Formats: sequence, C-alpha cells, structure tokens
Amino acid sequence: MPQKKYLAGVDLGGTWIRVVLSDMQGHFVQKVNEKVDETCSEAVSAHLIRLVHLLCKKHGITAHALSGVGIASAGPLDMKRGVLVNPPNLPFDTVMLTEPLKEALGVPVCLVNDCTAAAMGETTFGVARGVENFVYITISTGIGGGAIVNSTLLLGKDGNSHEVGHFVIDYQGRLTCGCGRRGHWEAYCSGRNMPNYVRMRFEEIGLKTVRTSTLYKELSGDLSRLCAADLFSAARRKDKLALELLDEIGELNAIGFANVTNAYDPSLITVGGTVTLKNVEAVLGPIRKYVGDYAINRIPEIRMTSLGENVCVYGAVAAALKYLS
Ligand SMILES: [Zn+2]
Repeated sequence: MPQKKYLAGVDLGGTWIRVVLSDMQGHFVQKVNEKVDETCSEAVSAHLIRLVHLLCKKHGITAHALSGVGIASAGPLDMKRGVLVNPPNLPFDTVMLTEPLKEALGVPVCLVNDCTAAAMGETTFGVARGVENFVYITISTGIGGGAIVNSTLLLGKDGNSHEVGHFVIDYQGRLTCGCGRRGHWEAYCSGRNMPNYVRMRFEEIGLKTVRTSTLYKELSGDLSRLCAADLFSAARRKDKLALELLDEIGELNAIGFANVTNAYDPSLITVGGTVTLKNVEAVLGPIRKYVGDYAINRIPEIRMTSLGENVCVYGAVAAALKYLS
C-alpha cells in the first residue's frame, strides 16, 4: 500500500470554518475559509465534508487518499463520541462531527478542543518546538488555553483542562461570566465581555468625568453600542480614560497569566486570538508589567504566537499527525 502523503486539518469556529490540505510535514498545499453553514446541525458536518472534497479535488487526489482528518473546535466536546455538546457559538444541542466525516470520507477522523489543538500546533510547528513546559493562551471572543507540562499535553478527566478563562480573578465577583458564574477572567477581559467591564467602570467613575472622554463622545453616550475595538481605537488616539481602562484590563489579564504561571510553571507562554493579534502591545504590555506582582513562580517568556490566525488549524494538523498517523 503506498505511503499516504496528505491529511486535512479543520478549524471549526463560531463563525468561520478553515480547512487545509497539508503534507505530512505541516506544509499547507491548499486552504479554504468559509462561513459555517448553520441551516441545521447536520449541515455543519456536511459543510466540512464538502470542503475536504473540494480541496482534494483541486489537488487531484481523492479524499480516500488522506491519512486522516483532524478537527479543532471550540467546546464543550465529547471527545470520545466526536460531538459538540451545547456549543455556545452554534445554535444546536449536539453537532456530530467525527462519525459523519469518517463515513463520508472513509478515513480516520479525530476531534480536539481548539485551544488544546493550538498548543499542539505551537509545539509541533511554531515557536514552542522542543519546549517541555509551555502554555498557549487565546484572548479572543472568549479566553482559553492549552498546557504542555513535562512534554505531556494536559487533557483532564473530561478533556477540559483548557478552561483557564474561567479562573476566578475577582473574589468580589462584580461581573457575571457567560457560563453563569461570577468573577471569571473571561467575564472581564475577553473581546465579548470587555464592554461590560468598561460600562461597570464608567458607572463607578461617574458621568462627569466619563463625559469628557473621546470614547464616550464617539458613542454619543450610547454605551450599548460599545465594543472592544472602540476601546482600543480610543486608546490609540491617547484618550486618557481608555488608556486607564486598558491598563486595568491588562492588570486583570496579568492575574490570569500569573495563575497560569503558578499552576503550570511554563518557560514560555504564547498568546493568540483576535483581540491580541489586532492589539499586540496594548494587550501584552500591561501583562508583562503586572504579572510579577501576582506570580510566585519564575516569570516565563511571554510572546505572540508565531502561527497567527492559523494556530488552530496548524493544531488540527498536529492532532491528526499525533492521533491518526
Ligand atoms: Zn466562566
């Protein structure tokens, strides 16, 4: 039987699907991005199957010739059954993934959490190659992480060891997280929830001061329209209040990074996710400034992911190489 030369990696997000055809060394030969087909739960796997076939056809091979397909997806996952269970980003109770793909493509398929996958991608193809103690953190719509400790990928009893975004960083629990609990890191610092933090602080600071800020003026006082990008944009134009609030959010991020440092003792943390990729210094600067105030362990090197927005799809390829080859 001839040696298989290609595999497919899938990054299934809340809005976008990225699919790549890769060689066995992780070089992408074809790539496609499309919006997730949300017409019904079955449409998601059908969409993935269609895209894998499309990439194979473009490259003149059949899907059957693949050594396997790795899928990286935001959870919660049931890894063993290969399904998403009540995913907050998709409007379905259950999304079957591995079985429909196995059946339609006739090749092995694995499913891993996207943050776990990203950590595998970084240690297989990125700047964390050869690093024995490493954590990847994403600051995006949500916050999550993947940890490699003594060269072992941490998964946990249900495969949920990546839930660092739900570390408690505020014992007063002033903000409620999307998960329903209070005081979680993600409730203050994720792209989706940063506006809640700003609105809370605006109320505490008082209208008299808030009214003078560019941020407030640009929204014409309508704080319901506020999004994370507005805060970063006002800070770039040196709005004093926006800069102060970003520094506070940065200190809260640093508490999260200190918890990660204390728990896993990594020598390197790489950071990705849309919020970070678009605002590198505004996000990483305050983290580096404050992390030492909260961590007891030696502070790791903290830097951007070298794989950019492709970190999860590289992770899907790495997962396929690890679990299916
Ligand atoms: Zn939470």
